[in-house]
This record gives sequence, structure tokens and C-alpha cells, in this order.
Amino acid sequence: MNAASHSHAERVGPGAATGGVLRVDLGALARNYRRLVAQAAGAAVAGVVKADAYGLGMDAVAPALLDAGCRTFFVAHLGEALSLRTILPGDAEIFVLNGLVPGDERLCAEAAIRPVLNSLAQLDAWGALGRSLGRALPAAIQVDSGMSRLGLAPDDVAALADDPARLCGVETVLVMSHLACADEPDHPANAAQLSAFEALAARLPQARRSLANSAGLFLGERFRFDLARPGIALYGGAPTAGRPNPMEPVVGLDARVIQLREVPAGAGIGYGFTVVAERAMRLATLSVGYADGWLRSASNRGAAFLEGRRLPIVGRVSMDSVIVDAGDAPLRAGDLVELIGGDATLDSAAAAAGTIPYEILTALGSRYERRFVSTTNLGDRP
Ligand SMILES: *Cc1c(COP(=O)(O)O)cnc(C)c1O
Repeated sequence: MNAASHSHAERVGPGAATGGVLRVDLGALARNYRRLVAQAAGAAVAGVVKADAYGLGMDAVAPALLDAGCRTFFVAHLGEALSLRTILPGDAEIFVLNGLVPGDERLCAEAAIRPVLNSLAQLDAWGALGRSLGRALPAAIQVDSGMSRLGLAPDDVAALADDPARLCGVETVLVMSHLACADEPDHPANAAQLSAFEALAARLPQARRSLANSAGLFLGERFRFDLARPGIALYGGAPTAGRPNPMEPVVGLDARVIQLREVPAGAGIGYGFTVVAERAMRLATLSVGYADGWLRSASNRGAAFLEGRRLPIVGRVSMDSVIVDAGDAPLRAGDLVELIGGDATLDSAAAAAGTIPYEILTALGSRYERRFVSTTNLGDRP
């Protein structure tokens, strides 16, 4: 079911204690996972569930991915991994992308969590723990193939290749790197990072290899290796910005109308009076603001939708509310209007706020009523 098909009766009702309703379609999530598995053409597909599954709720998202066949998960922090460990079966593989802070090695190993070792210091500390326990502890090794963010630099890889005993106590189960420009398919950095990754990985122990995020999965066969690590595409974001989005929407966000008012020509609207009404207007105030992740950069740019009709934001987004031009739309206090879903795609909402879908999702926060639903078909989406 599409958000646009919700009846008036469904729009009013429970959840009125919150400023809006965040709907997460776990059926669509599972279908997106399977679509990426098909796209990976034989490579395994992990689920990236860092930042509370991009703001949607890891506790619901991770089991849904597990049911869809996912067995490998990536989070950013050890704390996220420890939470995830309590909801996944023991044989599910959990990696910590940001590696380990010194002193956290034992906690990580005891929970059977696999760090992504991003430096020789992290590798040495992990190996030392492994040697003290008398067994090799599984980990991923990340190499920096050109992004200059995380991972062993080429000199570090060379030092390690010259001194393989340094890997004693470490079981290298994955060699990975990350692409800086994968969402720009024609960017020369993609090919450069691919060959840098292949050259660096060749000097490390034989293990599964992983390079592609969501966008990387669409760059071609050579980028797929053994394991892909999509995040945003699972959650319905376009893998490649500016190209038709092959993913199914997962997130719907409805905001509650809390007041309707008629203002005369000349009325100032919102903080700073960035808009002064040129004519008499009918305005609706919605109970969602930048504290709910409805970014201030959407001031005078974004919109809400009511059954296909665009209700533009007028004036600045406030902390807890935003004003839209309601025109003669059939709205009453308590109704819900769409911010994401149906006519308002995640990608277009991000564009209207001058940002990317990642930031919209991870900014949503905890204030909404969350409804996890599971549609069983593609509904009215072509
Ligand atoms: C966040 C992240 C991903 C997922 O990226 P998407 O663009 O959301 O698919 C994959 N790998 C690493 C290292 C990441 O940090």
C-alpha cells in the first residue's frame, strides 16, 4: 500500500501524541535486499545497519534482513555491534567499520564481533590479544585505496607484507576498501581505486574481498568481488544520484497538522518574516521541525503533500513546526500530510533540503511514532 492511498480516517487516529508517523516497510526492505542480491550476481550481500539502520531502527531492520537471507552485517561502532549481537543468531557475522579504540579488543572478541582493522596499531593490538588467548581472532583488514579516510596506507601494507609474522593472532577473514566517488559512475577515481585495491589486497592474506557500497554494486562486475556492503539502497535511496532509482521506497513520513489559519495580505510568516504574504493565504502549521530532522535548509524550498497535491513550505522551518501553504486543501487539525512517500520521494525531499538521502534518514531522530509494516507486493509502483 502506498502512503498516498491512506484514507482520511487512517490519517487521523492513534499516534496523535507525536508530531508525525514514520512508516518503515520491512517487506520493501526485504525486496530491496533481494534485488541487490540479484544485482550482485553471485557475490554475497551484507547489510549496513550503522546509525540505527540509517535512522529506521536496527532492532526491526536487522532481523528483517536476516529473514531475507542476509548473514553479514556492518555497523560503525562497537556499541552498535554489541546491541546487534543481542538480536542476531550467533552465526551472523558482525563487523565494526570504525575499528577499535585501544582497550576495547577483549570486549569485542568476547562478543564474537569482528573489527575492521584500519591501522597497524589496531592490527597489532588485535594480534596481541589473539596470541594471549592462543588462537587467531577473526577480523577484516581495510586498506586505503584512495579515499584517505580509514584503512592501511600502501606503506603499511608493504610493511605488513615484509613482516607476515605480525599477522600472528589475526585471522584475516575479509580484505576491504571503500569508494569515494561510486555515485559518479564516470569519475576516474573509481577505476583508480579498483586497481589500487587489487594491488594492495594481493599483498595481504587470501580472504574474501569487498569494495562496493550501494553505488559500487552498479559500477560493473569488477567492483563486486566476494561481498558487497550496501546501505542506502536497502532503505530506498537511489544508489546513483541523478539516475532512475531501481529501489523500492521503504520509508514513509507523515506530519500532523496542528493548526489552520487564514492570514491577510501583508502578514509576516515564520521566524525572520522571510515571507510576507502577497495575498490572503490559508496556512497549515505542521508538528514537525528541524528537531525532528526536517532540516532548516528546507525553509521556503521543501513541501508536504496531500493526495498528490503539493503544499509548499512557507517561511523558515522552526524547531518543532513548519508552515505550509494549504490553499483550499481539505485539511483539518489532526490530519496527516506526507513529507516522504507517495509523491514525495526520499530523493526529492533530500534535494529540496540541499542534501542527500543519507542525511535525511539519519536525522529523523526518535520523536516520531514508528510503525513497522510489511507490504507483500509492489503495490502501485511500476
Ligand atoms: C556506510 C558505508 C557503507 C554503505 O554505504 P552506502 O552508500 O549507504 O551503500 C559501505 N561501506 C562503508 C565502509 C561505509 O562506511
